[in-house]
Amino acid sequence: MYGTVIHAPGDIRFEERPDAALTAPTDAVIRLAATCVCGSDLWPYRGVEPVGEPHPMGHEYVGVVEQIGADVRNVEVGDFVVGSFATSDNTCEICKAGYQSHCVHREFMGTAQAELTRVPNADGTLVATPGTPDPDLIPHLLAASDVLGTGWFAADAAQAGPGKTVAVVGDGAVGLLGVLSAKQMGAERIIAMSRHADRQKLALEFGATDIVTERGADGIARVKELTGGLGAHSTIEAVGTQESMMQAIHATRAGGHVGYVGVAHGVALPGDELFFSGVHLHGGPAPVRRYLPDLIDLIWRREIEPGKVFDLTLPLADVAEGYKAMDERRAIKVLLRP
Ligand SMILES: [Zn+2]
Repeated sequence: MYGTVIHAPGDIRFEERPDAALTAPTDAVIRLAATCVCGSDLWPYRGVEPVGEPHPMGHEYVGVVEQIGADVRNVEVGDFVVGSFATSDNTCEICKAGYQSHCVHREFMGTAQAELTRVPNADGTLVATPGTPDPDLIPHLLAASDVLGTGWFAADAAQAGPGKTVAVVGDGAVGLLGVLSAKQMGAERIIAMSRHADRQKLALEFGATDIVTERGADGIARVKELTGGLGAHSTIEAVGTQESMMQAIHATRAGGHVGYVGVAHGVALPGDELFFSGVHLHGGPAPVRRYLPDLIDLIWRREIEPGKVFDLTLPLADVAEGYKAMDERRAIKVLLRP
């Protein structure tokens, strides 16, 4: 098979690799219908995270089950499935509490930008769709695998809901789908913080009521101005930098909630600022598996179209161009078709 391997920052290759194969009786192998490039893939691509030895990439996936291990019961060969970037048994205490991304048997996916991929913990990770999806549903289902599930968790962690004003820091795919999620949860007002016209447009389409183009202290001041000087009830942080995290905390009113899902890089919270903010913080890797059945249902009934975040589709073989387009911000998110 062919798959994506990162050799060094900026060096993505689509190359021949051993076929994905079962290694445990709880594994499944799926043939990808679509995969994509994640904002978090850009951290090693940009050299912000060390690459180390050349290794495969990709953790967002939808496709058809091709093989199952002897212990797999919940999916069958031929099922069309969606899974999360973090695999889970879905039976341990942590999973039962809804935190499948912290499962005691968790293994992170990392080989999905390929023709085939092995999914550990198949029973507790993969969710079969009600049937073979119409082709136009595939991007939406793929979004559920990570970016929608992550945006949904962020909105949930921020306690978005009726009567709430939600601020969203970050206008990448996760931030934009945080807007969609907050809207689905009934938020009254959604303030999207974005400086890019194409992303602002999508944010408005997904349900944003206000756009704030300022950042940092100016952005915080603008959110306060829009909320009677108080700040948002709920803030989604979908970037992962010191600036974005502090922007989220200070844009939130005392007693409010910050849902942070941007993978933290170099974030150090000043204790005094945290202490006097009076906000709740909750986040981390999203337990996408908790939400998958409901998200698949919403997509299947065509109530949401999260796949609109894919504004560039390329053949999987052109994956290197996909990384480049996202790195240069020519694309919000790139869908790859094997
Ligand atoms: Zn578990």
